[in-house]
Amino acid sequence: MTGARPVIRLTDTQESFRAQVARFAASEVAPHATAWDREDSYPLDLFARLGELGWLGVGFGEEIGGSGGGPVERCILIEELARASAGTALGIYVHTVLAAGALAEVASPALRDEILPGLLSGQLKGAWAYAEPDAGADVTRARLAARREGEGFVLDGSKMYITNGTFADVILVVARTSLEPGRLTGLAVLAVDGSSPGLGRSRMEKMGMWPSELAELHFDNCLVPAGRLVGGEDLGFRECLPVLSRGRVFGGALACGLAGAALESAVLHATNREQFGAPLAALQAVRFNLADMAARLRAARALVYGAASAMAGGEDFDTDASIAKLVASEAATYIAERALHLHGAQGFMSDSPVQRYYRDCKVLEFGEGANEMQREMIARALLTGFRC
Ligand SMILES: Cc1cc2nc3c(=O)[nH]c(=O)nc-3n(C[C@H](O)[C@H](O)[C@H](O)COP(=O)(O)OP(=O)(O)OC[C@H]3O[C@@H](n4cnc5c(N)ncnc54)[C@H](O)[C@@H]3O)c2cc1C
Repeated sequence: MTGARPVIRLTDTQESFRAQVARFAASEVAPHATAWDREDSYPLDLFARLGELGWLGVGFGEEIGGSGGGPVERCILIEELARASAGTALGIYVHTVLAAGALAEVASPALRDEILPGLLSGQLKGAWAYAEPDAGADVTRARLAARREGEGFVLDGSKMYITNGTFADVILVVARTSLEPGRLTGLAVLAVDGSSPGLGRSRMEKMGMWPSELAELHFDNCLVPAGRLVGGEDLGFRECLPVLSRGRVFGGALACGLAGAALESAVLHATNREQFGAPLAALQAVRFNLADMAARLRAARALVYGAASAMAGGEDFDTDASIAKLVASEAATYIAERALHLHGAQGFMSDSPVQRYYRDCKVLEFGEGANEMQREMIARALLTGFRC
């Protein structure tokens, strides 16, 4: 594994970072990817290992304990980890981009300084929880209640589909402080300690992204100190929206990593597998298939790194983030399906990595803002002056 070939010009430092992460992923993640997948349990040591390397702090300023670097470096990290194991990369993505990201950008300096160093060193593990049984794409339906009581809030209700939720030490929970159904106001974000009395967790079984552990969380009279508010009491979730917009770009990088692994396996198989007296790759239909996969991956990668560069340069990147997320997630699904098809029965076997790519990719299309919502945002931008 030599690492993905970028489509934007990387600096020498970024190139060397990519090579370093690719080497790490090839030696410390890829060899275990199938076993971790089968066990469907997260390799928790990875947090401390990435923390030691300073990689959990990539994209966070040194003044708040980060390792520097920016959105491009963060894309590199997530893409290369996802090439080795998308499920493992998903856990790191939620921990750094969403949990640590919201604390770094929205929390008070006191709360940030209390929790962020632990997350960036990997001593603490983070999760981000907004989904509920009745609140999916429509966050305004969130019902988990945060009731003011004395010096804190009492949480009652539940969350579901929470990545890292089985083991997280800090969970950023979106909770309703005032009942204004259908609006983004009245939604707070609270950094809940994983050991809080009244917090129960149960594991959820899923189709793909197996090593990333998914949980249902139950809050029963769970007291959270007011100092744990991330942002305003009624506007915290709104204040975290830019964190989620940024997240689409890094989710796109994860999709590119998964798609890159699938394409690599397809090329290898088409080269090695002989039928009709020649490798599959001698057949024009197969060659065209590979070419289509490569074209989609390169286009996706250009959009993801283009959006990351715009973000790094302080430009408006919201629509580019939506386009990158849309194209990269659909490219990943297309490439994973084509890779499985090219492998035939061999790919269908449970020990084959391509069946893993095929199971892992789908969530990237409906998670992080379903692709229909991205299309809606892109169309709205286009109709109000966004220039392609
Ligand atoms: C592996 C995995 C990990 C996850 N990790 C987390 C996590 O860490 N934290 C967390 O909070 N949540 C997490 N989730 C949940 C995720 O946030 C939700 O899946 C997502 O918000 C979509 O909600 P939903 O699945 O309930 O789909 P729904 O909201 O029910 O939507 C279903 C489908 O309806 C269509 N649709 C929805 N809205 C629109 C629209 N506006 N226009 C057109 N069509 C639309 C789309 O096709 C969409 O796929 C995870 C889910 C999975 C599977």
